Amino acid sequence: MAFTLPALPYPTNALEPSIDALTMEIHHDRHHKAYVDNLNKALEGQAALQSKAIEQLLRDIKQVPDNIRQAVINNGGGHANHTMFWEIMGPGGGGKPTGPLADEISKTFNGFAAFQAQVKQAGLGRFGSGWAWLVLAGGKLQVVSTLNQDSPYLNGQVPLLGVDVWEHAYYLKYQNKRGDYLDAWWNTVNWNAVGQRYSQAKAGNL
Ligand code: MN
Repeated sequence: MAFTLPALPYPTNALEPSIDALTMEIHHDRHHKAYVDNLNKALEGQAALQSKAIEQLLRDIKQVPDNIRQAVINNGGGHANHTMFWEIMGPGGGGKPTGPLADEISKTFNGFAAFQAQVKQAGLGRFGSGWAWLVLAGGKLQVVSTLNQDSPYLNGQVPLLGVDVWEHAYYLKYQNKRGDYLDAWWNTVNWNAVGQRYSQAKAGNL
């Protein structure tokens, strides 16, 4: 079974004005598609690996043969990261989390504003291409960043929220102003989806 590109769960213009429609179209239809295509190419003839869920493939990265491991890190990571990215954004997004996730963010980071500042710092501090994340690690929330398409699953962490800081995610509208993109990006976040991921991760189902 080959991996497939999931449909964008909303129209390309749904996140305007924070993320423009052309960026969304190119990002999903070309960039994400290329990760899926290249992952499938790397896994040709590897039936056991092809049948794994993408998250499990990344968690078990040491079981992937040396000669294709980096391709799976790059393209499998790219597939998993973007699939989650589309799901944790949505029209009418923004605001703040509610419920247990809100409580845990407040407690861990000393308030929601301080949490947002940490994510922004993680995104701005990532030299070149990568991601800033909220992850569940050892039962605790943590803000981290990764290089290129490295997935938190590679490090035994569960990504709950992630913001793509590759230039392809923001350059058409924001050019070199990554900080402005990171500020506007909060208006796209679907906190219900992030809260669900938190509950599932706590239950060991993610
Ligand atoms: Mn991307």
